[in-house]
Amino acid sequence: MSFAATTPAARPSTARSTGNAAPGPRVPAAAAGSATGTATDSGRATRSGAGAGQRVTAAGEELLGLFPPGTSVADDGTLLIGGVPVTELAEAYGTPALLVDENAVRARARRYVDGLAARWPNSRVTFASKAFPCTAVYRLLAEEGLGFDVAGGGELTLALAAGADPEGLVVHGNAKTEEELRLAVEARAGLIVLDSFDDIDRLERIVGEVSGRTQGVLVRVTPDIRPDTHEAVSTGQAGAKFGLLLPQAREAVARLRGSDRLRLDGVHAHIGSQIMETGPFARAVEALAGLGEFAVYDLGGGLGSRYTYRDRPPSVEHYLDTLVGTAGMVLPAGARILIEPGRSMVAEAGVSLYRVVTVKPGGQPFVAVDGGMGDNLEVSLYGQRFEATVATRVGGGERCRLVGRHCESGDVLSAGVPLRDPRPGDLVAVPVTGAYTYALSNNYNGARRPPVVFCRDGEHRAVVRRESYQDLLRRDLG
Ligand SMILES: *Cc1c(COP(=O)(O)O)cnc(C)c1O
Repeated sequence: MSFAATTPAARPSTARSTGNAAPGPRVPAAAAGSATGTATDSGRATRSGAGAGQRVTAAGEELLGLFPPGTSVADDGTLLIGGVPVTELAEAYGTPALLVDENAVRARARRYVDGLAARWPNSRVTFASKAFPCTAVYRLLAEEGLGFDVAGGGELTLALAAGADPEGLVVHGNAKTEEELRLAVEARAGLIVLDSFDDIDRLERIVGEVSGRTQGVLVRVTPDIRPDTHEAVSTGQAGAKFGLLLPQAREAVARLRGSDRLRLDGVHAHIGSQIMETGPFARAVEALAGLGEFAVYDLGGGLGSRYTYRDRPPSVEHYLDTLVGTAGMVLPAGARILIEPGRSMVAEAGVSLYRVVTVKPGGQPFVAVDGGMGDNLEVSLYGQRFEATVATRVGGGERCRLVGRHCESGDVLSAGVPLRDPRPGDLVAVPVTGAYTYALSNNYNGARRPPVVFCRDGEHRAVVRRESYQDLLRRDLG
């Protein structure tokens, strides 16, 4: 019986998905919960056999449900990501490191691509690349047939460097500069999303100067919907800095319909991130429909991810049912639908690996690791809750304060997280760190930004190396 990191309760059924290529069988909760797992699954390390001592606690089994589907635990209690022991990864790349289960990203991409195509064939999944903007991720998702959202010249440059098809690029930003618009037009980006009347003026002029052809555009609409999520990542309410409220959006649409340089393909809305209910998505589709008939409706991203035991985000399939169900009622049958998942595409495929530097006893001991807000800003920015485990003794233990190495009391990775007998030198793994950690990593306290390591079928490769101290000095001209 293999011990796979999933339970039906933890993850939506994959029965509808043809493309979920996560390795290893999915074990029913009852079986995964039995205390006597023994045999190995195709040579992969698994849960210990009877009599070998308790390697994975019951709490550990629940915890593993938060790790990528390819995660397992070796007989000696060591966590394996994509079939690779974390001890081997720590030795090869050092810590902190951001590990990515490549199969998990592909599986999620296929669920999105197949799921959307099955429900609305004239459609495209466009990865909101700010969630994980490195060329290996662009390349992998391009192979799976996705297009890309890029916000600004940097993400545009990365996408092109990865070989992304310019036609599949959707260029966003509430403050796109002249230079950035020019880059996008010159690169022949498929769609540019207009966020203001200034944007329209500027782009009309640039298209005239640069290309002589017409440029496809969408109008970003603020539908005045306030999903239940952190204020910092709610983007579709009145008063948000993004897009145009419905009356202004109508005005922009009318103006663009008269433009001979900008080709108005349609409208766009993105109401926020880490959204745990489907209602607001349906209301956004209805709001877009109210603006009239277009060739393209870009429905944005924002589906929540499961960071903690209590999180119950809608499944990809449930989310798509809602979007396309609503679209079927209110959008023209021949329209093209775009969706822009970011977080939910990559969050659950990522695991941050740290080494414990210090354990300071107290009511709830401080367990301080060699990373923190330099490589994971989600806690400080949005109060995101993460779970964690000692990576060689998975699950269980006393509640600890898992903190970083930075000079702020707010530099906490997880407050009150159970860790089993943590000691200096231990590896600690934090799951669900695939989204917005790499992108927001920084050099606070002179931290060198961590490497990104892809793991798959027992093999591993760095796709981004760790920064060096020389890198820190390179831009510093004295
Ligand atoms: C950030 C963003 C997304 C992706 O949001 P997620 O919550 O990561 O899915 C999609 N579209 C736009 C325009 C965005 O800014």
